[in-house]
Amino acid sequence: MHINCPHCGDRDQREFSIRGHGTGLSRPKGETWSDDWNDFLHIRDNLAGRIQELWHHGGGCGAWLVVDRSNVTHEIFGTRLVSEVRS
Ligand SMILES: [Zn+2]
Repeated sequence: MHINCPHCGDRDQREFSIRGHGTGLSRPKGETWSDDWNDFLHIRDNLAGRIQELWHHGGGCGAWLVVDRSNVTHEIFGTRLVSEVRS
């Protein structure tokens, strides 16, 4: 699988590491342990199909990316810098 880094171009997946969900998780308020924190840290739907994941280009430019891909076919629909997603 190849991933298109917005800075470096099309690169081998081995230059990247996956870091979890790319979007859709809202951080609970407060610093006291609660069921909301447990869900945020440990509970995932683990759906098959098109998903968005957070990837780090540690073997390249160090960018953090949101990769839109299928976890069934491994087709990649697009990549964006995290800084672009949050702005
Ligand atoms: Zn890069």
